[in-house]
Order: sequence, then C-alpha cells, then structure tokens
Amino acid sequence: FNNELQRSEKMEIISDLAASVAHEVRNPLQVTRGFLQLLSSKEEEGKNKDYLKIALEELDRASNIITDFLTFAKPEFEQTKILHIDDEFRHIEGIISPMANLQGGKIHLEISDDLSIKGNSSKFKQAFINIIKNSIEALRDEGQIHIRAYRSGDEVYIHIRDNGEGMDAQTLTRLGEPYFSNKTKGTGLGMMVTFRIIEAMDGRITFTSAKGIGTESTVRFPAASSDSAPDS
Ligand code: ADP
Ligand code: MG
Repeated sequence: FNNELQRSEKMEIISDLAASVAHEVRNPLQVTRGFLQLLSSKEEEGKNKDYLKIALEELDRASNIITDFLTFAKPEFEQTKILHIDDEFRHIEGIISPMANLQGGKIHLEISDDLSIKGNSSKFKQAFINIIKNSIEALRDEGQIHIRAYRSGDEVYIHIRDNGEGMDAQTLTRLGEPYFSNKTKGTGLGMMVTFRIIEAMDGRITFTSAKGIGTESTVRFPAASSDSAPDS
C-alpha cells in the first residue's frame, strides 16, 4: 500500500510538470507556425516553398504530440455537461467522413434516440476520432466502418467496428502504450490518450480483433439519468 501511495503522489507531480511544460512549449510553436504560414503564402518559388511546407507539417506534428500529452497529463475536465450522443457523432462524422472517403471507405451510423452521458464534448470527440481514425487507416478494399450506440440497463454502449487489417494478440496487448505504433508516420499516442479520456469519464473500453478480418472496440459509459437533462 505504501508503494502505491508514493506512486500516485509521484504521478501527480509528473502530470503537473508535464502540463505546464506542454503549455509553455505549445505557444511559441503556434506563433512560429503563423509566421511560416505568412512566408509560404507569398508567391515564393522552388525549393523554399517545399522546405516551408515540411516545416509547417513538422510543427503541426510537434503541436499535436504536445496536445496529446496535455490531455494525458490533465484529462479531468473543467467543463462537463450532458452530452447527446447523436449530436456528438453527427459532428464527428463531419470531420471523419472526408478522411474515410479518401481511403475509399464508408461510415455507417446507427445511434439510438435520446442517449446521453456526462462528460466534456471536445474530449469525447478527441477520444472517438482517435479510434475511428485508426479504423480508417486500417481499411483495405471495400472498407466499412460501423458505429452503433444504444442503451442497455444503466449504461450507454458504443461500438466501432471495421473490416480493416485487424491486430494480432501482441498488438492488442500493447495498445495504449506510449509510442507504440506500427505506422511510418504514427505517433503511437492516440490510444494512450483515448484510454485516459474514457477513464476520466468513468467509461470502459475493450477491443476484439482478428488479423485479416477487422477490429471492434466497445466503449461503455454510465448513462446520464434522464431527469438531469430536462428538455424544457
Ligand atoms: P498510431 O495510430 O499513431 O500508430 P495508436 O495509439 O492510435 O497510434 O495505435 C497504435 C497501433 O495500434 C497502430 O499503429 C495499429 O497498429 C494498431 N491499431 C489501432 N487500432 C487499430 C485498428 N482499428 N485496426 C488495426 N490496427 C489498429
Ligand atoms: Mg492512431
């Protein structure tokens, strides 16, 4: 027990530190990005423009990594409210559909009416966009992604199923480990952040997957009691 207490105290110090460092590094990154963007929009020719493009992309990459760590360090949210699952997924679909189309994949939504949970809207979107992005990146020919949500008992269930390349047992056990990625341009932070957000919203996530067949993730959250979200 002693050890555990020390560990959680340490974790708290580390996460405070990570949050403040991440904040301080992200701001100058974003300022630099702004100036690079200005430079690149002038009609410069030739190589300079390519270099600028790479610089901008790498800045975005650094900035995304910092945002992920920030979420990991401080996943608890200042603003929580009643989230309507159909609204959230309609919004997510708008962001993610163009990405799926680029891979020749289709997204199917099947969301029951009147589903709600308590949480933070932007974190919720971040968590599910990470999961669905992985599905899209795993798609091969005739890619399909099914998103289904319904209530069962006191819980809201959300299933994300794809017919992509699937994962072997070893990949499944390493999922969520920082920097674990099988992609050339992956950060290996997506699932780490998603797990953390879901945990902070009192949710649970599980995966089933078969190599060559596809992957299904199941997330469940405590349903928000209907009387806490009056419509009138
Ligand atoms: P990244 O996407 O940057 O690689 P993630 O944490 O999001 O990092 O995912 C880690 C790894 O888990 C991926 O590189 C991939 O190998 C595997 N993975 C996650 N989701 C899926 C999926 N739906 N289908 C196949 N592989 C997946
Ligand atoms: Mg990912």
